[in-house]
Amino acid sequence: MAVKKCNKCKAEFKQAFRVRHLALHNAQKQWVFLCKGCTLEVKDNNVHYQYGGTWKG
Ligand SMILES: [Zn+2]
Repeated sequence: MAVKKCNKCKAEFKQAFRVRHLALHNAQKQWVFLCKGCTLEVKDNNVHYQYGGTWKG
């Protein structure tokens, strides 16, 4: 079964969220994969937060 590693907590998940949450991500047009918990954590009051879709393994 395919899994993705969360860019923040480094744990592996069967479902991940494709997001941008840093100015750097926007500047470099880069996406990172985060688990649900980390996504909720970074999106709070974050002007850099952008959602790019859900990945399922
Ligand atoms: Zn995580």
